[in-house]
Amino acid sequence: MTTVEHKVETFDSLNPATDEIVGTYPVHTAQDVADAVARARNASAWWQSLGFAGRTERLQRWKGTMTRRAPQLAEVVHQETGKPHADAMLEIILAIDHTAWVAKNARKVLGPKRRSSGLLMANQAATVEYQPLGVVGVIGPWNYPVFTPMGSIVYALAAGNAVVFKPSEYTPGVGKWLVDSFAEAVPEHPVFQLITGFGATGAALCRSGVDKVAFTGSAATGRKIMAACAENLTPVLIEAGGKDALLVDEDADVEAAADAAVWGGMSNAGQTCVGVERVYVHEKVYDAFVAATVAKAKGVRAGGDADAQIGPITMPAQLDIIRKHISDAIARGGKALVGGVDAVGDRFVQPTVLVDVPEDSVAVREETFGPTLTIAKVKDMEEAVAKANDSRYGLGATVFAKRRGMELARRLRSGMTAVNSVISFAGIPSLPFGGVGDSGFGRIHGEDGLKEFTRAKAIARQRFRAPITLTTFTRTEKTDATVAKLITLLHGKRK
Ligand code: NAD
Repeated sequence: MTTVEHKVETFDSLNPATDEIVGTYPVHTAQDVADAVARARNASAWWQSLGFAGRTERLQRWKGTMTRRAPQLAEVVHQETGKPHADAMLEIILAIDHTAWVAKNARKVLGPKRRSSGLLMANQAATVEYQPLGVVGVIGPWNYPVFTPMGSIVYALAAGNAVVFKPSEYTPGVGKWLVDSFAEAVPEHPVFQLITGFGATGAALCRSGVDKVAFTGSAATGRKIMAACAENLTPVLIEAGGKDALLVDEDADVEAAADAAVWGGMSNAGQTCVGVERVYVHEKVYDAFVAATVAKAKGVRAGGDADAQIGPITMPAQLDIIRKHISDAIARGGKALVGGVDAVGDRFVQPTVLVDVPEDSVAVREETFGPTLTIAKVKDMEEAVAKANDSRYGLGATVFAKRRGMELARRLRSGMTAVNSVISFAGIPSLPFGGVGDSGFGRIHGEDGLKEFTRAKAIARQRFRAPITLTTFTRTEKTDATVAKLITLLHGKRK
């Protein structure tokens, strides 16, 4: 008998600040993925049988573990993405808060609810409840490796699904930490599993027959995910990139707006899906805003040391894109008031503030994903809204205004808008999060985020036999005439 030895292919996770190897992980094959999904299917039956109360108790246990060991998880995030420890803590804290919210609210949002059965069906008791889909595949990015996938993972779990998670190939260690800590809280069955690898492993998950795929990443990959999922008619949730705008009205608090622009654009080295990338400022406050932004941006430094406010660019290939956006903007008449092409180094990019950049240049149209901002002067907020909305993306947005904040927020073509603060919507667990256009569709977070991982189940239970029964062949002409009269009385009024 010959034994065939299968050599497991592996890949290394590197520290982007130093290129040191942080960990080595298997490149899971389509068969590995199929096996994980089969295990998840069994586990999901058990997880569903626990009901809301049993799942809540276990999610709270997991939340406790994450909270107590948050610094340890932050260290893994720091090593794999390069982001400062404090920023890693911030995304972990937000993820913990979301976990607390779903644990508390899943039953209220998804449990059985009575609905009015209407006059024609008054003899029926109508109920709706939101049942789990079964197994959900989650494919995550590297930029917020805890907060972003957890927006799908904990909502899918709380709704009663098992989850198979493929983290980004840049942050497999963070995925492993999450799955291992969950297994401590829920040791009985593999309700939440990890698969690791590159795009092909993700594509295998899309084709594996899972009941839904929740994807967060670039719009280009989102298209491939949809194509792969189409083969089995697997539904998808797409959380893709953005080119978020910040609007500054003439009556805005200019200092606060500049602070929001600099933090919104440059924190996490600009690698934030809902980060500020473009700014449109009313001409009356333009000069003051630019001066404040430049002063603040000059105080931000990228580096690998503990004092640097922002870390390296996690994905080396992104450096070329950032360089191209800046050089193209300058070649087309733009001016760098802070930074410039030289701000792009081998690993780190220093803050860059660009003005006078043509609206049709890549720095204004494409996702830069670096610590850069373009600032444009507008004559009024109509022009600001029109320019902000002239984008194939529509993820988040920000408005700084006293009088017209809510009005402008409503008119922006984006899934979320913050008024007089920045990215605040992401930290409010009860608010839905998701995009428009190339930023994707479907919603994570909040009630909508829970329902995203369920199917609505409608039940009509007859309470008593109705005097007029419509669903029978023994229906008489008299019945039809009575119903016609009734419907005219109910709905036939001219006004
Ligand atoms: P990416 O699209 O390169 O990769 C995302 C994930 O998809 C990774 O796990 C990757 O391995 C996997 N993948 C790649 N090819 C695949 C394929 N053919 N089939 C299945 N899976 C495949 O994105 P990224 O660089 O990791 O993340 C950055 C992007 O994510 C940015 O565009 C950012 O704006 C976006 N993002 C969006 C949100 C949001 O909530 N909307 C949040 C964070 C990041």
